[in-house]
Amino acid sequence: MTREHTPKLILIIPCYNEAAVLPVTAPLFLGKLRQLTADGKIADTSRLLFVDDGSRDGTWDLIKGFAAEDPHVAGIRQSRNRGHQNAVLAGLMEAKDHCDITISLDCDGQDDVGAMDEMIDAWAGGAEIVYGVRNDRETDSFFKRFTAARFYKLMNRMGVESVYNHADYRLVSARVLQAFADFREVNIYLRGMFPLVGFPSTCVYYRRQERLAGRSHYPLSKMAGLAADGITSLSIRPIRIITALGFFVSLVSLIGILWILITHFTGHSVPGWASTTAIICFATGIQMLSLGIIGEYVGKIYLESKHRPRYIISERTGERGAEEAPAETADGKDE
Ligand code: UDP
Ligand code: MG
Repeated sequence: MTREHTPKLILIIPCYNEAAVLPVTAPLFLGKLRQLTADGKIADTSRLLFVDDGSRDGTWDLIKGFAAEDPHVAGIRQSRNRGHQNAVLAGLMEAKDHCDITISLDCDGQDDVGAMDEMIDAWAGGAEIVYGVRNDRETDSFFKRFTAARFYKLMNRMGVESVYNHADYRLVSARVLQAFADFREVNIYLRGMFPLVGFPSTCVYYRRQERLAGRSHYPLSKMAGLAADGITSLSIRPIRIITALGFFVSLVSLIGILWILITHFTGHSVPGWASTTAIICFATGIQMLSLGIIGEYVGKIYLESKHRPRYIISERTGERGAEEAPAETADGKDE
């Protein structure tokens, strides 16, 4: 399948306290948009959509400034910080009825805008989702590289289907977004959810750059949180592992009890303080771990059962006129 018409593209750019980098990258994104339009790859109604994720620095003022200067720029502001995934989601839902394709990317210049041409070509060739995949990790520290590799391995082992080395640089067609809007969960892990929506997809490879300015908002603790969210939102494999472990421990205990009975009746029983303590410790440990993991899922059910909207847009640059505002308007995550 090939497509002939020139698509309207909306670039979705989440920003959280990015006043240091936006003045550098916004002209970069705008320049890319102009080049794609000039090359006839996208319609000239295409635009940038900045999503301010409740920044506390001058980010929103900068976005308003860009929007005032250029009609190709729009911005929405979340009423508070809700995290990267929810910010991207807010942008996607805002864009879904007003374009043919969206591309989401970080605002710090790390995702190479040069890959967009190939992404759009892949869409023209029939793909509905195009995953941007980094082909090297040279620009990362050894620590980040090591933890990132573990991250993807863990996700796959735990039953979350995700594209290796793909973060959130991705082309998604409006058609996929319409289907995706029916995924109502509050705990979201976008890169694991899009493969579940289906539709033809492909990958485009790019080199991830260094952050142009400012600093990362994803320390190890947040990455671990993202992994935990991804696993417990999309997979029940950990619970299965607990069940398997439970069977195994029960079996070992049964053999242990037989052994204890035999030693008792043959009169060889000795005061076995060490073995008893060891067994108690082991069993308690396993139980605590299992309860903890089950608790994670129960917690997720609690959060999901509240059906709170996943984002609230508090401000917009310019009015959207007769267009309807998105239905969702409240917080998803709450303790
Ligand atoms: N971001 C966001 N909300 C947050 C944290 C980050 O919207 O709570 C945005 C951030 O502005 C950037 C993107 O998510 O555009 C990726 O964040 P960052 O560059 O800090 O992560 P890294 O690339 O270091 O993993
Ligand atoms: Mg970054």
